[in-house]
Amino acid sequence: FTKSSSKPDKAQTSWKKGEPVPYAALTATFSKIAATTKRLEISAYLTHFLVEVIEKTPEDLLKTVYLCINRLAPEYESLELGIGESLLMKAIGESCGRTLAQVKAEYKKIGDLGEVAFNSRTRQKTLFKSKPLVVRGVFDELKKVAKTSGKDSQGRKVGLIKSLLAKCEGEETKFLIRSLEGKLRIGLAEKTNRSLRENGALAQVLVSLAHAAVTAEANASGKKWSREKLSAHLEEGAEIVKSVFSEIPSYDLVVPALLDKGVNGLQDACQLTPGIPLKPMLAKPTKAISEVLDRFEGKEFTCEYKYDGERAQIHRLEDGSIRVFSRNSEDMTVKYPEFVTQLPRCIKDNTTSFVIDAEAVAWDTEEKRLLEFQKLSTRKRKDVKAEDIKVKVHLFAFDLLYLNGQSLLEKNLRERRELLREHLQPVEGEFAFAQSDDASTVEDIQTFLDRSIKDGCEGLMVKMLEGEGASYEPSRRSIHWLKLKKDYLQGVGDSFDLVVVGGDYGKGKRTNVYGAFHLACYDAESGTYQLICKIGTGFSDEALKQHWDTLKPLELAQKKAYYDIGTAKGPDVYFEPKVVWEVLAADLSLSPIYSAAKGLCGDRGISLRFPRFIRIRDDKDPESSTEPEQIAEAYRRQGIHTAGGGKKGKGG
Ligand code: ATP
Repeated sequence: FTKSSSKPDKAQTSWKKGEPVPYAALTATFSKIAATTKRLEISAYLTHFLVEVIEKTPEDLLKTVYLCINRLAPEYESLELGIGESLLMKAIGESCGRTLAQVKAEYKKIGDLGEVAFNSRTRQKTLFKSKPLVVRGVFDELKKVAKTSGKDSQGRKVGLIKSLLAKCEGEETKFLIRSLEGKLRIGLAEKTNRSLRENGALAQVLVSLAHAAVTAEANASGKKWSREKLSAHLEEGAEIVKSVFSEIPSYDLVVPALLDKGVNGLQDACQLTPGIPLKPMLAKPTKAISEVLDRFEGKEFTCEYKYDGERAQIHRLEDGSIRVFSRNSEDMTVKYPEFVTQLPRCIKDNTTSFVIDAEAVAWDTEEKRLLEFQKLSTRKRKDVKAEDIKVKVHLFAFDLLYLNGQSLLEKNLRERRELLREHLQPVEGEFAFAQSDDASTVEDIQTFLDRSIKDGCEGLMVKMLEGEGASYEPSRRSIHWLKLKKDYLQGVGDSFDLVVVGGDYGKGKRTNVYGAFHLACYDAESGTYQLICKIGTGFSDEALKQHWDTLKPLELAQKKAYYDIGTAKGPDVYFEPKVVWEVLAADLSLSPIYSAAKGLCGDRGISLRFPRFIRIRDDKDPESSTEPEQIAEAYRRQGIHTAGGGKKGKGG
């Protein structure tokens, strides 16, 4: 045994071909990435490292990629890290010979547990030097921690974490703790439930993976490309990998196929597969019928009811089993057990496997009418027994993405819709096709919009039917799908989904509740929540009490580094970012104080004027709240379409 100094050694970051990838090599890359905010540099560091992994130890590529995005499995398997602070503080204290009070005090001072752990290890005298950590080992142990459940699971988790910590050298400690927290905070964590193509930063790891694969292939074959040719190949590779991933968002499948077939063979090897949720296509907001007509000028389009429920992507596998996935690719099969029994009634004989895109809406079985979204949100998410279901749900299918062994994504909407109607059939009170109308004049669209509202919908979805742009674009917020929400025709065109990041204590009559709430949008690129507005009016006493009950347990001891409040005063107390609210505003304005979307429309941030609470969005997680770019876009659009055709709207 060697005696190491009180300062942990710099761990070894190089390795030989065939050897396991050292964890220190990965964390050294993380450190470089953390030290820059330049996207190109981040990409270059990561790509360089991944090339090395592919060339020396390809069998570690999958686990390396997972550690980069801080996940352990595909999103739809919901195996998450995110160990609580108190558990981690206990493990840090016990493994580094410090009391819990010391760890807590330091955490309070510096606000980053990774740093606290790093400092604690640095101070510690380690007598025995253990074998260096390797990527595959760390990944397997993290998976064990995440899977530990049942009796004394806390104790066993602390044990596992302590033994990992004891083996950490230098910066490894910091990143290990951050991984365990579920917050790597180096701008890589990829939020796959956002558009992969819209914002390059979000797909950072995918792009680097693609670039690394292209580079490694070129190195292996000894190809020498000119700079232009190389950059064209890299770009093409990135497009292929992103597009395949949005059809099959599973590194478990994409990474081995990439290694086996190369970038060019990837599309054939990995295609939409029932059982694996693809990222849904999303829509752009519009605030006037005239805007819809401008955008679709000369194109064939169709209008559909925009049902006010929860998106449900329903898969029927070849073996006849049914799986239901949410907008965020979570498995909701257990939430909707009735679909499993009902759907076979809708399937015609000529249908074996399919993937449909649909909206699940609360349904009044007696009056045979749609109920509002709030009713649906009272349904339990887990352990639902078919016999206990109180709120009945009606499915409205609006798209068919896969049929009898074939992907339909490239077909146009008209063809997909015809196939949907040929291969499935409505069942009263259970399943129907979304109401549609190929209206094309302002008057006809207005009439259909009014009808949709009367029938209990939010408005219309207007979609390209034929020609370029009529294919299904997974993961994309596309201009080929426009939403026209009745309520918003006169406002800013759409509501915003914002995270409640803080509260002000109420005064006077409101002393036992929060009197105002501070809201933020999430910027995936910097990993920060950017303050956008404060709401303090329009809440009933009952609502305030309810918000207090939900938010009080989320109170934080201090502001976290991931809260970017610009020069605003900030709230009396910060909350853990958990709760998402849908908010409407009169308009948006540039702000010298707020930080939302800063830099996207000049130097200033953007704030919401006269924000109004609409509802709690418990189907959205904080990181899929409205993006800064969407805020900036809404701000820019204000100048283009004012009330315009919206004047015709009933509510406008
Ligand atoms: P929103 O706040 O409007 O629900 P979102 O960000 O969840 O926004 P958008 O793409 O903006 O999603 O709006 C489309 C959503 O509307 C879909 O995700 C789906 O749940 C729902 N929807 C209801 N009816 C339809 C339809 N006919 N076609 C497509 N989506 C529909």
